[in-house]
Amino acid sequence: MRIDCSCGATIKDVTDNLPHKGHMIPDQEWFAVFEAIDAQVIDALYEGRIDRDRAYTLARRLISRSAELMYQCRDCGRLYVDRRERLECFIPETDQTHCEVLRSRSDGDSPGAATK
Ligand SMILES: [Zn+2]
Repeated sequence: MRIDCSCGATIKDVTDNLPHKGHMIPDQEWFAVFEAIDAQVIDALYEGRIDRDRAYTLARRLISRSAELMYQCRDCGRLYVDRRERLECFIPETDQTHCEVLRSRSDGDSPGAATK
């Protein structure tokens, strides 16, 4: 994914753990994802219908398919939501808008540090 922002900056999606990228799960899907993980992953693993590797794959697939990707331009703060059929752009209301709302931690912190 490469987005040419209206401000002239380029937003690239070329690796993992990007501070300008997020995964948005709509609230209308939130509990459906939990219920699908319960039924298709946890119950299936507990009952021996799937093995651990299959459980990992299923859980990740269930979460991923409900999420829409979003990106923020670090230069101007524009937020882009990939609705799969089209890219929607949201423009900050003021120049004071935080340009890293998708960042969860500093680059030196390990993954999961924000939840501790
Ligand atoms: Zn921009």
